[in-house]
Amino acid sequence: MAVKSKELASDLTADFILKVNNILLKKFGKPPRNFNSNPLDILVATILSQNTNDLNSHKAFVNLKNEFQNYDELIEADLRQIEKLIRIAGLGKQKARTIKKFLISLKKKNKKLDLDFLKNYSIDEALDFLVKHDGIGIKTAACVLLFGLNKNVCPVDTHVHRVINRLGIVKTKNRDKTFEELKKHLPNGIAHEFHTNLIKLGRIICLSQNPKCYECPLKKLCLYEHKNLEKPKMKNKAPTKNSDFMLLDSV
Ligand code: SF4
Repeated sequence: MAVKSKELASDLTADFILKVNNILLKKFGKPPRNFNSNPLDILVATILSQNTNDLNSHKAFVNLKNEFQNYDELIEADLRQIEKLIRIAGLGKQKARTIKKFLISLKKKNKKLDLDFLKNYSIDEALDFLVKHDGIGIKTAACVLLFGLNKNVCPVDTHVHRVINRLGIVKTKNRDKTFEELKKHLPNGIAHEFHTNLIKLGRIICLSQNPKCYECPLKKLCLYEHKNLEKPKMKNKAPTKNSDFMLLDSV
């Protein structure tokens, strides 16, 4: 009997997420994925991406990779040199400090500069390890887990937070709470496609102001109270730029 009642108690949120995911897959397809990323590269690229756009942070990341053969060279570099190389991504001083401080702490703990040991950690253990370091928040940590360690977590940026709140998957006030809620219900194996396609939807349809609900493939199941279903007569003359570039699959 106990088994039967367990079977009946399905996770409605997980079922809803699967429905949304399938509709997004039909709309945008399965996003290409790089399974061979170095988790430490993903961490550095994600730190660089804070408060800037993907293209500028990618340039800053390439500058570092061109200048230093490996992280052992980077850790020896002067902070001002690192800051200069990553200036294009903004907050150069702060980001240079965060990166160098993390590398020093990692070397102390692990003797070598890589994060492969986190593959053997559970999701919560790996997140806890990363967020203990200054300047590394839950979103950065989640990006390392998804893009560097292929774990089933969905990092929550401003687009993911907005879209899944409007859909009614969660009802939360900030991104960290959204991440925690989503983590409880995310079905296995879909994190990368779900995350990537939600960002695409947020960039081109579910805009922060004036969402284009009239052309949204999710409009029938979306619970947003203020849906914008009236299609404007004039075409928008300014197309969204670079909406397909996904930084962490390009590292
Ligand atoms: S229907 Fe509108 S609010 Fe809902 S997900 Fe689509 S664009 Fe966003």
